[in-house]
Amino acid sequence: MLKNNDAFVSALSQLEQVQKLIKIDKNIFAQLQAPQRILEVSIPVKLDSGKVQVFTGYRSQFNDARGPFKGGIRFHPDVNLSEVKALSAWMTWKTAVADIPLGGGKGGVIVDPKKLSQGELERLSRGYLQAIYKFVGPNLDVPAPDVYTDPKIMGWMLDEYEKISGIHQPGVITGKPLSIGGSQARGYSTAQGAFYVLREAAKKVGLNKNATVAIEGFGNAGAHLAEILQKNGYRIIALSDSKGAIVNYMGLDVLQVKKHKEKTGSVMGYPGAEKIKNLPILAQAVDILVPSALENSITTDNVKNIKAKLIIEVANGPTTPEADAILAKRNIMVVPDILANAGGVVVSYLEQVQNAYGYYWSEQKVLKKLEAIMTTSFNCVWQEKMKHHTTVRMGAYALAVERVAQAMKDRGRN
Ligand code: GLU
Repeated sequence: MLKNNDAFVSALSQLEQVQKLIKIDKNIFAQLQAPQRILEVSIPVKLDSGKVQVFTGYRSQFNDARGPFKGGIRFHPDVNLSEVKALSAWMTWKTAVADIPLGGGKGGVIVDPKKLSQGELERLSRGYLQAIYKFVGPNLDVPAPDVYTDPKIMGWMLDEYEKISGIHQPGVITGKPLSIGGSQARGYSTAQGAFYVLREAAKKVGLNKNATVAIEGFGNAGAHLAEILQKNGYRIIALSDSKGAIVNYMGLDVLQVKKHKEKTGSVMGYPGAEKIKNLPILAQAVDILVPSALENSITTDNVKNIKAKLIIEVANGPTTPEADAILAKRNIMVVPDILANAGGVVVSYLEQVQNAYGYYWSEQKVLKKLEAIMTTSFNCVWQEKMKHHTTVRMGAYALAVERVAQAMKDRGRN
């Protein structure tokens, strides 16, 4: 029996499912069952009170056959090794779906960053980088932001890396502030990429621009996507964050909700909406549902209540494999995380290219490249889906695992 809440068990089960479909070389498949390397580190941080608190951090390097390990660093109280391993596997498939020359990795620190002062957060960020220093680098492993980490934290980590090495190497980390080698559009690229694939998927299920949307999670990706969708004519009916959910069947004014959240710390209490009491956000009667929070939000407990025709997974791992099977039976199209949220790492890659060139592009140029990569990725996944008569998720997995397997074979790793 699968445990709903064990992310790495889910990741392996997805891999097993695709293996039935494409039957890759057994020697390669065996090497995809675990990360190539896992680091577990203790990070002592001097708190403002003078007391030292020791935090636990991880970095999982899943596969580097196609290029350096690549993936974000998460600061969250629920971070655990299984989650970090799963996220690093998903990064491997994600970079392969987007066909960018990178592998997959992920990091995390068990911490509630909202409880730290700015000084404490900076010491933790620098401490984490020091702890993993020997195992990251522009051609080795390239971290980036994830849940509750941002450009400011990337700036501290870059500075720490360059202080230790004594050399400027902006390509060691992506999602940096613009002033120190960040890319235009990186701040909202996950949402922008999700918009490009949503547009393609909506055509496939026959939805038009007036489609209604519910978004679970109002962090970087969810909030930017809400804004982009609204600008493009979609009606945002329901939004949520970790404190609760709000609804307005006439459509929410996303910019006003954003302002309210900036002021109060939550979408809750926004005057132009009602608080959702009875019907959870996932069960709202909308055309498009966007889980954009954490793992395991769509499970066997709530999947039956979903009314949407299309699900766009902006979060990583929001659907358990059991719930996924039910969605497939119910003919609800799911655009999987490894395709839907790849826009973030795609612009991270473009950031690295600019860092290597020492030459920086306009926002329009970055967006054009992002649009081309996301649209091509969607079409390649769709072809695989049709070829194997399967779901969009398994189409994406078939494409990704075949690409990783090919690189392993060409390296003689089989
Ligand atoms: N954390 C993001 C993700 O899950 C971005 C990773 C990156 O840019 O390397 O895809």
